[in-house]
Amino acid sequence: MYNIVVASHTFCKLMSFWCRLLHASLTSCHLLAGYKSFKLFINNEWHDAVSKKTFPTINPATGEVICEVVEGSKEDVDKAVKAAKEAFRLGSPWRRMDASQRGRLLNLLADAIERDAAYLAVSDCWFILTQSMQIHICGLVFCRYYAGWADKWEGKTIPVDGDYFCYTRHEPIGVCGQIIPWNFPLLMQAWKLAPALATGNTIVMKVAEQTPLTALYVASLIKEVGFPPGVVNIIAGMGPTAGAAISSHMDIDKIAFTGSTEVGHLIQQASGSSNLKKVSLELGGKSPNIILSDANMEEAVEQAHNAIFFNQGQCCCAGSRTYVQENIYNEFVERSVERAKKRVVGDPFNLKTDHGPQVDDEQFQKILGYISSGKKEGAKLMCGGGVAADRGYFIQPTIFGEVQDDMKIAREEIFGPVMQILKFKSIEEVIERANDTKYGLAAAVFTTDVNKAHYVSNSLRAGTVWINCYNVFGVQAPFGGYKASGAGREMGEYGLEHYTEVKTVTVKIPQKNS
Ligand code: NAP
Ligand code: MG
Repeated sequence: MYNIVVASHTFCKLMSFWCRLLHASLTSCHLLAGYKSFKLFINNEWHDAVSKKTFPTINPATGEVICEVVEGSKEDVDKAVKAAKEAFRLGSPWRRMDASQRGRLLNLLADAIERDAAYLAVSDCWFILTQSMQIHICGLVFCRYYAGWADKWEGKTIPVDGDYFCYTRHEPIGVCGQIIPWNFPLLMQAWKLAPALATGNTIVMKVAEQTPLTALYVASLIKEVGFPPGVVNIIAGMGPTAGAAISSHMDIDKIAFTGSTEVGHLIQQASGSSNLKKVSLELGGKSPNIILSDANMEEAVEQAHNAIFFNQGQCCCAGSRTYVQENIYNEFVERSVERAKKRVVGDPFNLKTDHGPQVDDEQFQKILGYISSGKKEGAKLMCGGGVAADRGYFIQPTIFGEVQDDMKIAREEIFGPVMQILKFKSIEEVIERANDTKYGLAAAVFTTDVNKAHYVSNSLRAGTVWINCYNVFGVQAPFGGYKASGAGREMGEYGLEHYTEVKTVTVKIPQKNS
């Protein structure tokens, strides 16, 4: 298992010399030097958009334009789907390729990501650099993990009644549409590509408008390591045009989406009103983090801090409702405020920085709106609450105390560095309040009593529950949401199910040799 927060500190030390060198010499020329193209990646070639449109990609630490990227829309999606369909044709090099060879290609992709981690880490340059490196390492871990599965995702033999031999085959679904968000660019990309490729599908991926660069760099690596043309096609573009064209396309057999619950509804509807393509969804959350009075205070404060402030709060499973038992509430709030004030906000390329900018002006304004709503509804602002720099999209780490369940900041996903602390009396009460949400992505409980830990964990309606820890992920373990937080699971063996059709083959066995 992997705690991305803790691991990033360790990794920070290991990489510090290299990062200092990089920081000292980094310019936008260096940033972009490794790129082959900022165009659409279709059939292993770089294309302009049919419309000839481009859009700027912005550095959120400064608000400056990094470069122009080609903007795909419906006509370009059609071209990409045609290429993906051809690559999936019976008898094509990809369909005839041994499963073990697909695994080898994925391993080569992981090698290339590892080799070029420096470029990838600064590509969509708003992460904290050291954290970005760490997240990118997670991306290549994904490729390696699913590379291993390519020739091991076996069917079954089934003892049916009668004189028959019955077995199942796990076959690829076909052309998969994949739509990803901006909050962890390479991780989200690898998370979708790796299981789809391991199981032999072809792909048309739309990447988020805020972070197209990482994905286009990975596209050049996909070509370099030898995936056949048309197997992976990558389109940068907008949701309502390119994204909608994918979700309603008649020749796309499956769609995997990660993003907001609002857009998740649209994806599901588009499938229903087009060809009933299979849908898997990883959506939003408002995850409860429950601190019982017998918890180790120091650990609980630190973990709850990282649970919400990691990646500036731009994390689907952020622990954004911190429930604290009444007899430790005051001490917990005081210590959390002390901890948040120590958080270093600033240049993402400075090694001392803990906290970078929000991804764009839209998110920045939205979060400031939630902060003023919290104040208006009577929550107690304990620290932060304002803009943290005179340029870029920086917001101070913010804590609200005395938060009530019906306040907007306690019900809606803020996706920013804003911690809500709520008080509770009994375990039964907090379980009911924690479950009283449309979401069910993640939850956590902090306690030193093993019986209470399991009782609370079993009672929570969430796809992931952490006990005495937070944000611990293993590529081997499934992740996904209950209720409006999603449909299906990604990662681990479960993640393969969404990229395969199960075929049942039944063979008559004659009982006498004649
Ligand atoms: P978003 O607005 O839903 O966008 C996600 C992706 O969908 C983007 O590529 C977006 O394109 C595209 N899109 C937008 N409208 C579309 C439409 N009508 N049809 C098809 N595609 C469309 O979400 P976001 O703001 O990027 O990301 C934040 C949200 O994602 C949060 O709610 C967060 O909880 C969720 N999230 C969930 C997970 C998880 O694993 N459960 C992981 C990360 C994020 P544009 O580039 O044009 O916006
Ligand atoms: Mg969006």
